[in-house]
Amino acid sequence: MVLAVKTIGLIGGMSWESSQTYYALINEQVKACLGGLHSAKVLLLSLDFAEVEKLQASGDWSAAANMLRTAAQQLEAGGADCFAICTNTMHEVFEEVRTGVQIPGLHIADALGEFAKENVLQSLGLIGTRFTMERDFFRDRLSNRYGISVRIPDKTQRAEIHRVIYEELCMGVVNDRSLDYFLGVIRQLNETDIDGVILGCTEIGLLIQQAHIQIPVLDTTSIHVRSLVDFAIKK
Ligand code: GLU
Repeated sequence: MVLAVKTIGLIGGMSWESSQTYYALINEQVKACLGGLHSAKVLLLSLDFAEVEKLQASGDWSAAANMLRTAAQQLEAGGADCFAICTNTMHEVFEEVRTGVQIPGLHIADALGEFAKENVLQSLGLIGTRFTMERDFFRDRLSNRYGISVRIPDKTQRAEIHRVIYEELCMGVVNDRSLDYFLGVIRQLNETDIDGVILGCTEIGLLIQQAHIQIPVLDTTSIHVRSLVDFAIKK
């Protein structure tokens, strides 16, 4: 029996292409659980990605943390029961955001780690922005908390994946050339015997689906959504 349906607070707009996916998947999953006319209680605070990207590119993570902390505080004031940052990259500042509010934050790498544990996947390839692939915040959380070892593409491949994310996917452009390129990178990662591949950027699911690849695809957008819906629908 459902005791209470909680309000999910989303910090989105990073980019809005993936925020649409979050919104649709959250509602689909709540409807699947509760049936009938049920839909999710969601507060979406959508940022201007141009402003966020400028701070990322200049390495001004403390200004970015301030921006996201303010967003989380606005969600809390608006009645959200939790907050989620709808991008892998901006989990770089998760701790600064989390400590600025009373409501819990649902970390994307924790959702992923739990999912990998349930499915006994220990060695995973990772594609995402160069921040997510190269910096510590994402890989260390997976390895320290869930014992997952992460493999990343080589430098040239990382640069091209990063370019495609910002110049194509975040602008709603999905093309076959990039799909082929990403699949080639994943094939090469798979030569190192990975158990699956993490789509560690919330827009990559617009390009790649499970049907394209033999090994398990761990799409962080849908896995993050699963943890948000679990939180909202406490049974
Ligand atoms: N949404 C992307 C991610 O999951 C990239 C956009 C951003 O830099 O926030 O990392």
